Amino acid sequence: MARDARTGPARDIRRLPKAHLHLHFTGSMRPSTLLELADKHGVHLPEALTSGEPPKLRATDERGWFRFQRLYDAARSCLRTPDDIHRLVREAAQEDAADGSGWLEIQVDPTSYAPRLGGLIPTLEIILDAVRIASRDTGVGMAVVVAANRMKHPLDARTLARLAVRYADQGVVGFGLSNDERRGLARDFDRAFAIARDGGLLAAPHGGELAGPASVRDCLDDLHAQRVGHGVRAAEDPHLVRRLAETGVTCEVCPASNVALGVYDKPEDVPLRHLYDAGVPMALGADDPLLFGSRLAAQYELARDVHGFTDQELAELARQSVRASRAPQDVRDRMLADIDVWAR
Ligand SMILES: [Zn+2]
Repeated sequence: MARDARTGPARDIRRLPKAHLHLHFTGSMRPSTLLELADKHGVHLPEALTSGEPPKLRATDERGWFRFQRLYDAARSCLRTPDDIHRLVREAAQEDAADGSGWLEIQVDPTSYAPRLGGLIPTLEIILDAVRIASRDTGVGMAVVVAANRMKHPLDARTLARLAVRYADQGVVGFGLSNDERRGLARDFDRAFAIARDGGLLAAPHGGELAGPASVRDCLDDLHAQRVGHGVRAAEDPHLVRRLAETGVTCEVCPASNVALGVYDKPEDVPLRHLYDAGVPMALGADDPLLFGSRLAAQYELARDVHGFTDQELAELARQSVRASRAPQDVRDRMLADIDVWAR
């Protein structure tokens, strides 16, 4: 058993209550479920998704990112019916529950599922229904972040933002922006984010993953991000690090994803320790476990095993995730109290 030199035998990380704020919809799928759904719908999957091993990926160039997106699209094409959606959400909640998550914000662009599910509105309603049922059955509090795709037209993002706001009191808590940060400008999506923020949603665009610190600054300046998806590459700019720490903007850091996509060569290169010591709040996330092969608790294990986080520091990371969440106050209070119990 791993030991923490200062506090004795290491506590079980799966029992540490945490909030999971960076998990994509299709990317949350169990590999075994993907195979079953592909079989059910007669979808021929690329071999990289059927080998039983996480695919070899590299997203540091456009070809690599395109390949990642193609695999993601292939997996997404297996989600065709409301039953498939309910199964995906139920299993994501079950996996999160097993990893100690008490609150899960799952991120989805309903556009990609809409053609098979009767349009944007029915799709979002099916997802929100699935979230309510999965949350009730697993005890994991859940909410949805509607994410626009930055490869598409900014007008599409505005449409999505309006849709997201309509469901703000029915389980949608945030608005995101995903896909290749190297394409287009964050500023192109400022109107969509204004709609989302005015409607009471949290602004949580991706930045600082495939592109450097400037992309994080754009998220802050142009989209008024309250959380940043990834954001790790802010570490390359001391001024930006200080700004994130001072304003308390949380970075949704996904270490296993960063290594799988080649953002960093090795787990020890992910600047977890640097950001933590500088006071940048973080919420560790799994991003796309289907493609990267590890879930939420594994990110905290990595912080412990590779970056030497003590149990007290892991507890603080968990608190940061809860504070950055959109969980209702009573859920946050309960989780923070349970984290204290874990750390005692
Ligand atoms: Zn992501």
